[in-house]
Amino acid sequence: MNGIAETENLDEQKESIDILMQDEDKQDKIIAMITNPDLRFGYVLKLYYSIMGIKMPKQLDLLDEWFGSLVIIVRESDGTTKEPPEYNDMERKIYATRYNDSLYGSGEGHERVTYIVNKLIGTASSNRDKGHLQANIIQKNIARKLSNETSALANWGKYIADKLKEFPKERLQELHFALYMFVLIASEQYYDRDEYDRDIELFAFDEEVFDQIMYNAFYQLQLSDFDGFVNGFMWLLLGSLLRNACGRICRVFNSSFVPIYRLSSETGHLLDQLAFLIEPEAYEDYYEGNDLERRFPGIEFFCDQCNAHLNEQEGFTDHLDFWRCRKCGHVNPINMNEIYENVEDYNNGIQRLTVDGYKRSIEKRRKEVEEEES
Ligand SMILES: [Zn+2]
Repeated sequence: MNGIAETENLDEQKESIDILMQDEDKQDKIIAMITNPDLRFGYVLKLYYSIMGIKMPKQLDLLDEWFGSLVIIVRESDGTTKEPPEYNDMERKIYATRYNDSLYGSGEGHERVTYIVNKLIGTASSNRDKGHLQANIIQKNIARKLSNETSALANWGKYIADKLKEFPKERLQELHFALYMFVLIASEQYYDRDEYDRDIELFAFDEEVFDQIMYNAFYQLQLSDFDGFVNGFMWLLLGSLLRNACGRICRVFNSSFVPIYRLSSETGHLLDQLAFLIEPEAYEDYYEGNDLERRFPGIEFFCDQCNAHLNEQEGFTDHLDFWRCRKCGHVNPINMNEIYENVEDYNNGIQRLTVDGYKRSIEKRRKEVEEEES
């Protein structure tokens, strides 16, 4: 064994991250870190910096480190001249000057920038004072850019992945666990709060957007591989910085989360959806539909090739074993092995639906309907 081979293997080692660290003391330590969790940019990153043992940068530097040119433009400077930061309305960007290695944040006229940055990071949580309008414009601007240019989101993801790869596996495992627990605890506490309190907080979330961010982040984290970890972290950074403006990105990338089949035992509530991801076997399937003449009641089929909705196509019936897509000609098998909860599960080869559970739920429904009719 030599040193070179080991560094080449680094990526491979990081491929698999065991989400459930076996070390219970470490787990307790991390859970204890997550006090009053809030889906705010500063909060999510505080977990990162504490675990990595790095001093958290000051506000302008923090935004510059994670969202670079999307929010902050660093002016040309000799590094020794103090020049206060400015917000440019037309460009929706903050201009800042590096002084003594960090972005200079004070000086005359800096107040406006400070207000804006406080709002974005979540250190100022009131809607009443200044800065939130500009901060909101910045949020919308970033969301527009990331959803219009798919390469922008991909590049940003790569930037985060490269950053994480610099850390040893143990640290990554800890961060992975921290984010996983953060989603669970923050989701629970969010819904424990009064609806009124949730509605008046800074950049109050539409429940739908909050749920999507948390669900998508959790989904990715529970995959327990390096890509899932990066994606989960990315969703949390995006969601916490952009808040409701993140809805735009969720909608563009929603196709990854279109449900093909949803268990009817899910209440649709976020906490229930997260619990189902953790322990699907704890949920007894049941079915409420009346399309019992079908072979697979409640299941929608999509073309493997062009994603067309096959159930809608003329002549389609799920009693066939194969169906040739009328749009692209691809021959799709129609059977139990083809059924996934959602596209993301399909892409990751995860089948949570069990044949027995599904059949039981349909049989139960048939009896219910017979009883109703007699
Ligand atoms: Zn097709």
